[in-house]
Amino acid sequence: MNGDGTRAVRAGLPEPETYRPTLPGPVFTAHYHLHGDDDPATGPYTYGRDANPTWTLLERALGELESPDAEAETVVFASGMAAISAVLFSQLRQGDAVVLPDDGYNLLARLRERLTGYGIEVRTAPTAGDAQLRVLDGAKLLWLETPSNPGLDVCDIRHLSDAAHAQGALVAVDNTLATPLGQRPLALGADFSVASGTKALTGHGDVLLGYVTTRDPELAASVRLWRKTVGAIPGPMEAWLAHRSLATLHLRVDRQATNALAVAEALRDRPEVSGLRHPGLPEDPSHRQAVAQMRGRYGCVVSFALPDRDHARRFLGALRLVDDATSFGGVRSTAERRGRWGGDAVPEGFIRFSAGAEDPDDLVADVLGALDEAARG
Ligand SMILES: *Cc1c(COP(=O)(O)O)cnc(C)c1O
Repeated sequence: MNGDGTRAVRAGLPEPETYRPTLPGPVFTAHYHLHGDDDPATGPYTYGRDANPTWTLLERALGELESPDAEAETVVFASGMAAISAVLFSQLRQGDAVVLPDDGYNLLARLRERLTGYGIEVRTAPTAGDAQLRVLDGAKLLWLETPSNPGLDVCDIRHLSDAAHAQGALVAVDNTLATPLGQRPLALGADFSVASGTKALTGHGDVLLGYVTTRDPELAASVRLWRKTVGAIPGPMEAWLAHRSLATLHLRVDRQATNALAVAEALRDRPEVSGLRHPGLPEDPSHRQAVAQMRGRYGCVVSFALPDRDHARRFLGALRLVDDATSFGGVRSTAERRGRWGGDAVPEGFIRFSAGAEDPDDLVADVLGALDEAARG
């Protein structure tokens, strides 16, 4: 019954062994010694595309964080997209139907085209509310992303999972924004918790990674086989860096959530700001559901809109402590004008702000100063 921090600092570590490191270094190898072909090569490690001891420790760690109370298996991937694709393409066949969010991560639109091309029926529903229920009939898989990126809507994982299971559908939740310390989709009834480890999970903006966690050994095996088949494997160095970063996950997500809330509160009273969203704000449309199913940490992202594209550009240019960069979840604050990429249904002045681990007063002062400068034109 350890707390999150206690669990995070030790997650996945091997039993202490005298003269051995606490977290063994990355294992760089393409193949492993075997014992001749009379020996059924049933050991865990034969070829580097199938398994690696550095992944094994990270997978154990992520399993402990995503599912501390029940046995679960994790499969790590080269990126979040590799993990998402692994679930979709390992589970769906021609003729199946899948329900995707229409306001989730922007590459879901590209996946949607590909799935359709393979003869899979794609239905969509917004994240907020429960419109997913109206398109569930006969679906094989329900995909949720909550809180959604970049709109920060939240849906009821338990309620939607129960409804999906009653119809025989599997449920996957993209847990990237919350991290396993912010939300445990498997405990809320989902079959898969899927995430990009590129964001807040690793938190330093220096690693791309993804993972899938499930409590069902057969589902885990099919996702693992998909990884082996397409070869979407993380490098040992990335896996090791990710594991090293997990030891500070609780410190980072707590500080970043505190900072995000401070920034959101500061933005609240600004006349040029519209559409302010952060699940931790009491008046946010997501707040009630977020409190009910998240674990007191509502993530590092704040979304809002400035009057137009130029105003947003002036704001980004005037920030001193916040890098103009895409992605989110890093210890250094970042912000971007999301519309620059196309693909998200957002206004031209829409800003996705990712709070880092700076001192909250410094960060808020920087944001307010940049707003003042941007307002002067
Ligand atoms: C970034 C992101 C992804 C994709 O992850 P990569 O590691 O960049 O492939 C998927 N889902 C969400 C919600 C994301 O924010």
